[in-house]
Amino acid sequence: MRRAAAALLATLTILALSSCGSPAKSKAAPLEPASTAAAASATGEPAVTPSPSGPGSSPSGKPSAKPSTSPSTSRSPSRSPGTGGLPKDVVKRTGSDSVALTFDDGPDPVNTPPLLDVLKQNNVKATFCLVGFRARDYPAIVKRIADEGHTLCNHTWQHLQDFSTRDDSYVRWDLKATNDAILAAAPGAKIKYFRAPYGNFNTRLDGFAAELRMKPIHWEVDDESWRTDKYGVGPAMIDRITKQVQNNTRRGSIVLSHDNKKPWTATAYASLIPWLKARFELIGLPE
Ligand SMILES: [Zn+2]
Repeated sequence: MRRAAAALLATLTILALSSCGSPAKSKAAPLEPASTAAAASATGEPAVTPSPSGPGSSPSGKPSAKPSTSPSTSRSPSRSPGTGGLPKDVVKRTGSDSVALTFDDGPDPVNTPPLLDVLKQNNVKATFCLVGFRARDYPAIVKRIADEGHTLCNHTWQHLQDFSTRDDSYVRWDLKATNDAILAAAPGAKIKYFRAPYGNFNTRLDGFAAELRMKPIHWEVDDESWRTDKYGVGPAMIDRITKQVQNNTRRGSIVLSHDNKKPWTATAYASLIPWLKARFELIGLPE
């Protein structure tokens, strides 16, 4: 029964996959890796044995259910991304006058390609914080991100809400599996950055990231593209993203946005990028 309870808890937890800042908003079917990881954790064992196909995979190497690509419109309560008490080594700014756009939670087969198109049309590099199992499932998009010169960032295997409290063996496995999935799609690519789900960093996580030569990156500007409960979707959200970025970006900012399940992001940035380019140098974070 305890295993079943742990699996149920993990199922609820995995519903937090919708974005960095919004827990428990998606009604998508639970993903197999979460249940497996939680069940293994409850036994005190490492979550899974690393394998080329990833954790908790079905024999085909695919999750039992892929997340929906439609935007979440549920009205669950949400909270702000964690911004207090960050370890000192976590970077919130670029360290120069340049501004870095970061896009989290993909790759998304629907919403990442049009965003890449916008970036390419404007000759702008950005940083993509990728979720491991999605990198495994959509390798062609990962390869395109790398081939087009964007910076890669590890955003953990499955964006667990309680990632920061997972035991050492799970965290070490998760970060490595995510990098492996990215590198399987884009051999030789550099993955120099790590972003904890919801920005919930701690020195222990950062230590494991450092073992893989990744620096922890937070953000200074949150475009609030995850706050559909408050700001809605479609034109209302495009307006919100635009105002957030225009009102808060300054020299040296790292800007947080999302591509996964966020069809309005590419549209918003199609207008925002020329505006930003007129005021700032836009960079992918240095590799
Ligand atoms: Zn995220």
